[in-house]
Order: sequence, then C-alpha cells, then structure tokens
Amino acid sequence: MKQQGPIMLSKIIDQANIDHFAKWLTRAEKMVIVSHVSPDGDAIGSSLGLWHFLNSQDKTVNIIVPNAFPDFLKWMPGSKDILLYDRYRDFANKLIAEADVICCLDFNALNRIDAMKEAVKASPARKILIDHHLYPEDFCSIVISHPNISSTSELIFRLICRMGYFEDITKEGAECIYTGMMTDTGGFTYNSNNREIYFIISELLSKGIDKDAIYRKVFNTYSESRLRLMGYVLTQMKTYPEHRAALISLTEKEQNRFNYIRGDSEGFVNIPLSIKNVVLSCFLREDTEKPMIKISLRSVGSFPCNKLAAEFFNGGGHLNASGGEFYGTMEEARKVFEEAIEKYKPLLNARR
Ligand code: 5GP
Ligand code: MN
Repeated sequence: MKQQGPIMLSKIIDQANIDHFAKWLTRAEKMVIVSHVSPDGDAIGSSLGLWHFLNSQDKTVNIIVPNAFPDFLKWMPGSKDILLYDRYRDFANKLIAEADVICCLDFNALNRIDAMKEAVKASPARKILIDHHLYPEDFCSIVISHPNISSTSELIFRLICRMGYFEDITKEGAECIYTGMMTDTGGFTYNSNNREIYFIISELLSKGIDKDAIYRKVFNTYSESRLRLMGYVLTQMKTYPEHRAALISLTEKEQNRFNYIRGDSEGFVNIPLSIKNVVLSCFLREDTEKPMIKISLRSVGSFPCNKLAAEFFNGGGHLNASGGEFYGTMEEARKVFEEAIEKYKPLLNARR
C-alpha cells in the first residue's frame, strides 16, 4: 500500500532522484543489489533492507557481494540468500549482465567491489548509487550520495519512505535497516548526533523490532578465542603520547595462534580511542588472502584519518573511520604509520 512516510524527516534526497528511481521501479523486473568487499553491517543491512522492500514489490532481486561477511551478521533475515561472488562467479555474472537495474550500496568507487568491478561496469543495466562516502565516482546514472548521513541503511529508509512505501517496510526489513544504522555508528556512539536518527529508530520500533536483542546478536556473540585475541592485541599495543596516537597489529602467525576467523578483529581498532587524549588509532592486520597489510584507522573529533589513509596507505573513507592497504612487511607498514603521524603531529595536537 502506498502511503506517505514519517513527516518529521527532512527531505535530504533530491526529489528528482526519488522520482527517477520510482519510475525505474515501475518497469524493472530483474534487480541486483551489490555492495563492497568484506561487507560490514551497513553493507549487509542496507542491501537486505532494500531487498526486503523490493521483494514486497514483487521484484526478482538478488544481493551479490564480493566475498564472505562476518558470522555476527548471519542471523539477519534474508542473509542466507546473499550470493558471494568469489564462490558463484558464473551465476553472479549472469545475474549482473541480465539485470534491468543494479543498485550499488555503501561504496563510492568501482574498485571497492573488487573482482565484480568489470561485470558491473559492463552490464547494460540501469545503475543507481546509494551511499554516504565522499567523492562518488561517476558510474551510475542516479547518484544518491550523502556523506553527512551516518549510514547507507538510513538512506535506504529515507528513500523507501519518500517513494511513499513506509507501510511496506516489514519487521524483517526494519531489523536489517536498524542493524546497518547501529553498526556504522558504533551503537550510536559516533556520527550519531542528528536527531532524525532517533526519529527513524522510533519508526523502526513501530515495526516490532527488538533493538536490544539486535545489539546483543551483533556485539555480544563472540567466541572465547576472540576475546583472548583482543587481550593479546591490547597487551602488544604501542602508544605515541606526543602524537596522541596508538597502534595495534596482528600478523598472520598471531592470527593462527588464536584460531583467528574472519571478523574476529572487528571493532579492535576502536578500543585504543578509549584512552584519554588518544585521538587516532591504527590497526594493521596481515591479510591471509592477499600479500598485504590491511590498514584500519579511527579518529575522534576533527582529525581527518581519511586524509592520512589516502596520503600514506592508498586508501580513504570517512573523517573518523578510514582504511587502506599496504604492500610490504608489518615492520615497514609500522614505519610508514610513524612517518605519517610525525607529519600530522601538529594536527593531532591541535586544540579541538
Ligand atoms: P574498516 O576499518 O572498517 O575496514 O574501514 C572503515 C572505512 O574505511 C570503510 O567504511 C571505508 O570507507 C574505508 N576504507 C577501508 N578500507 C579502504 C580502502 O582500502 N580504500 C578506501 N578508499 N577506503 C577504505
Ligand atoms: Mn556504511
């Protein structure tokens, strides 16, 4: 049923984009949703939030992501139907090539979807980008890009409501949208001062979601070995008081010692920020698939860790959460980080 959504939300998304996408929807039959490599809660949450809605509109819709997502997201309704490109490449390529519409969620550049890049680029489908990262690349004809909105999942909620389908959001869809909003704000502890977020949560609660249960399912279902790994990593932490920075790291050997599985180090990078005066935290993790070190950066206040990521680690991201890659040894990566904080020392010490 078509009905106007919550009236308390400001109209952040351009009306022209809403109308354009709504028009595509009237004609589209086969739809594909894609999101970024190593999908996080917002990638999976926004994709499933949109997926549940499109299902309610009787579309044939598939979610395809480049590779596996963490176990703590596997309770999400619909997650079993998500296709992993690295496991079902041929089938995924066929879906991408034959889609009427491809929805690109939670990423701003084609290289963020890894091996799927060429297939998505080559597909004759109409493409829409819905994202909150800075500087979107030009590969979609509808671009809904709002870096000041804290999650793509929130944008999905806003889009569905603005098209007039609030009533069609199911409890399952609401759970997925909530999960994305919650994970991209660290449980509403950062990027979460916009009061409209809480209005949206209220609307999602009206669908019957149990937000406290969702918090437990996402944040409190880890293994014992993960907690021991966390203890170990923190014991090894290096701090740089003069730079107000901290560094944690994890080699492949250390990962094996603690029976590391994908997702086990999720959230580690945030922990050093709980030290008084630390404004920048860096986590270096040796990748087990590619010969590289994965960099995660987090900052508090106005320190732009995305700038540091772009300049020193060929990466990017948000002001307070960014990442990149480094091809070399752990020792070399640490040296580059130390060079970077030396260069940014004045900014790290700037009064906030
Ligand atoms: P995480 O530390 O959770 O892996 O990444 C945090 C954020 O940093 C992501 O949401 C994404 O915006 C950005 N990011 C992470 N890795 C990369 C990367 O390799 N390249 C770019 N451009 N951004 C990244
Ligand atoms: Mn996101």
